[in-house]
Amino acid sequence: MVDIVVAGGAVMGASVAFWLTRMQPGLSVTVVEPEPGYHRSSTALSVASIRQQFTNPVNVEISRFGIDFIRDFASWTGPEGGVPDLGLRENGYLFLTGTEAGAAQLETLAVMQRSLGAATEVWDAHAIARRFPWMNTQDVVAGSFGPRDEGWFDNMGLLQGLRNAARAAGVRFVTDRVTGLELSDSRVTAARLASGDGLQAEAFVNAAGPACAMLMNGLPMSLPVEPRKRTVFVVDAPKARHRDAPLIVDHQGIYLRPEHDHWIAAAVPAGDDACAADDFDADHDLWDDVVWPALFTRAEDFAEARVTRWWVGHYAFNRLDQNAILGRNPLVPNLYHANGFSGHGLQQAPAVGRGIAEQILHGDWQTLDLSPLGVQRVLDNAPFAEAHIV
Ligand SMILES: Cc1cc2nc3c(=O)[nH]c(=O)nc-3n(C[C@H](O)[C@H](O)[C@H](O)COP(=O)(O)OP(=O)(O)OC[C@H]3O[C@@H](n4cnc5c(N)ncnc54)[C@H](O)[C@@H]3O)c2cc1C
Repeated sequence: MVDIVVAGGAVMGASVAFWLTRMQPGLSVTVVEPEPGYHRSSTALSVASIRQQFTNPVNVEISRFGIDFIRDFASWTGPEGGVPDLGLRENGYLFLTGTEAGAAQLETLAVMQRSLGAATEVWDAHAIARRFPWMNTQDVVAGSFGPRDEGWFDNMGLLQGLRNAARAAGVRFVTDRVTGLELSDSRVTAARLASGDGLQAEAFVNAAGPACAMLMNGLPMSLPVEPRKRTVFVVDAPKARHRDAPLIVDHQGIYLRPEHDHWIAAAVPAGDDACAADDFDADHDLWDDVVWPALFTRAEDFAEARVTRWWVGHYAFNRLDQNAILGRNPLVPNLYHANGFSGHGLQQAPAVGRGIAEQILHGDWQTLDLSPLGVQRVLDNAPFAEAHIV
């Protein structure tokens, strides 16, 4: 019998394990991960960015801690983490809008974000053009920009540092797959493993990313979370090399950011729907139909843009409200969730791992109240929507 079993050992599972053993050294924690190379995890396939610009205050607060943790990663994880630096590039995010109503909304959000310590500024189209002269702003009314605390970093460094530090603190990572959770008197008693073994524990954490709903088979609650495909294009545009550009969330329905001398660009496919867990085929039409025309509209220098490579990752898409589902399950009180991040979980891993560890060890959230993202709202079918979904 171990104290805690974590199903899923990518960034969320590793973060929970890291925080559990940091808060209570000597705790016996086992993380079950079927794919130790992480090739198909969202963590490895993300575009590795962090922003303060969310529409829910709790998400801003989560990212306030996230940026501190990422910036000071080595001091949090120590030499055991083995990752001295996450290479944070603070180029900022720029959310564009083409309407007056959108501009007013960005102003309101910026006030809320600044009240929580973010630095969001709202600029009109002229100010945007002055700062980024290569950008066409004819269709832009305004944009909100984060001059600090936003940008991108080494996603696999974050995972490996947390994992290394957790292992050094005694956490066992086993290569196996959780096939189900056994229930008795409304408590999970054991995790069944594909190898045929079973793991008994006092508490269990579902950190299985886009596969999290499958772990709920036979339990009294299902999760409204499904895998959704996202194709990311790596683009070379020799006339548009702007390494100081921000991550631009464009109202045309794409986002883009520089990656060394190239760009990364993606769009949500029309008819976005659940995909099979093993479907990693690229949605190539998106390039011709959506991404390239939008890039060309934003800057004519993208005329000669070409795709040099691409990859496909899965969002753990929460159909209810595109927000994380966190913490103790009210119907199965020794089961905890870190699920449904809908494309913004990498940056949330530090605060979420800490919060889940607090709930398990101390009974409730301590440093940051994550209850707006709690499981109860799923049972109540009461959405808590995050509108800035990228
Ligand atoms: C294209 C793309 C871009 C993104 N960009 C960003 C971004 O810029 N910023 C940001 O913050 N977030 C971003 N995200 C989201 C972010 O990557 C995820 O929210 C985050 O990585 C979630 O981590 P996780 O550990 O919950 O899930 P995952 O990384 O998917 O890990 C889940 C793990 O569970 C394992 N598993 C699955 N089934 C089982 C089972 N039955 N038993 C045990 N283990 C199991 C898997 O093998 C996997 O390793 C992006 C995602 C994608 C796809």
